[in-house]
Amino acid sequence: MINQASPQKPQAVYAAKNKDENVRMKSSSGGIFTLLAESVIQAGGVVFGARFDSEWNVVHDYTESVEGLEAFRGSKYVQSDIGNNFKKAEAFLHVGRKVLFSGTPCQIAGLKKFLRRDYDALLTVEVVCHGVPSPMVWRDYLEYKRAKRAAGKNSVSSSLNELPVITGISFRDKSNGWKKYGFKICYAASKAAENTVSKSADTPNYEITPFNEDVFMRGFLKDLYLRPSCYHCAAKEGRSGADISIADYWGVGHFHPAITDDRGVGLILLNSEMGVRCCEMIRPQMQSERSEYKNALSANRAIIASVCEPKYRRLFWQEYRLRNIEAIGRVCSKIKAPLWIRCKMKLAAIVNRTGR
Ligand SMILES: Cc1cc2nc3c(=O)[nH]c(=O)nc-3n(C[C@H](O)[C@H](O)[C@H](O)COP(=O)(O)OP(=O)(O)OC[C@H]3O[C@@H](n4cnc5c(N)ncnc54)[C@H](O)[C@@H]3O)c2cc1C
Repeated sequence: MINQASPQKPQAVYAAKNKDENVRMKSSSGGIFTLLAESVIQAGGVVFGARFDSEWNVVHDYTESVEGLEAFRGSKYVQSDIGNNFKKAEAFLHVGRKVLFSGTPCQIAGLKKFLRRDYDALLTVEVVCHGVPSPMVWRDYLEYKRAKRAAGKNSVSSSLNELPVITGISFRDKSNGWKKYGFKICYAASKAAENTVSKSADTPNYEITPFNEDVFMRGFLKDLYLRPSCYHCAAKEGRSGADISIADYWGVGHFHPAITDDRGVGLILLNSEMGVRCCEMIRPQMQSERSEYKNALSANRAIIASVCEPKYRRLFWQEYRLRNIEAIGRVCSKIKAPLWIRCKMKLAAIVNRTGR
């Protein structure tokens, strides 16, 4: 925060997607992170990124194998615990290993300040970031989901006083498309349900909720419980010094219709010579088109601007102390969408009604 860098524009911009459809479907946008990470692992390097721990908290960690990358794939919309991973990265760099460090812009800026010098073997990749939600709200939300599911199936599991066990989470499930992504949560089949064949067949062991209906995602997208510094981010617009920035290429259909589909297209900003070289290495494994920075910015202000602190944020935290997760829905319902969005929705409703 004391030694802030100046903003910088990228040297090159691409719209791109991984040719491996399986990987792309499991990634939040174009699956570009995996391509960059694989190329580092194949060269004997180490990759740092964010994954879930056994309690579904989000933590930073590293892997030396391609299989280990699976845990890092996909955005987790929670502040990750960085732990002592800056020190671990430094130790690998000291013994001459290649290191890819991925994270939010502030994490990359933090790593660079921690290292205090450049390393030829270090590649830094930032995800363009809206802001990171509170890990406390995340933990409370998961408890709320488990309790709600147990109550919903009370004939089966809560009678045995058993809360369902979470076995998988995806913030960006693409089963219904990339643009209409869902929040997916998977549960282990309960012992009682396993014994009651007809009931277990009735209830799928996962839930997918459209992103704008899931209570945690609603509060996140209304900026209610981001980390306070996210409202004045000092690491955006190239200030982090990351070699590469990756993001969702929202609005890609206007500028690159030939590579647009609803399974996710990534935006790549190459901010350094090292970034340009690494992108060249993965080019055969991706379908890409050269793009323009101004086009990328037109639907993605998160690259350069922090979100505004909502006027209801203080009220939210007051309500949260009393009502916990229930506070999110109550406060969200008070926040009106901006006027232009309300006009657009009204217009869409009229067009739908009249069929014109
Ligand atoms: C909190 C957050 C907010 C974001 N906001 C925006 C936005 O406003 N606009 C936009 O265009 N894109 C945003 N993104 C980035 C976007 O969701 C994709 O991660 C990005 O497009 C890369 O996708 P991919 O398909 O190439 O790789 P994926 O496999 O989807 O991405 C994996 C990468 O994300 C990193 N990652 C995942 N969760 C976290 C976390 N909690 N903290 C740090 N790193 C994490 C992993 O370490 C890995 O590097 C955000 C990501 C996060 C984590």
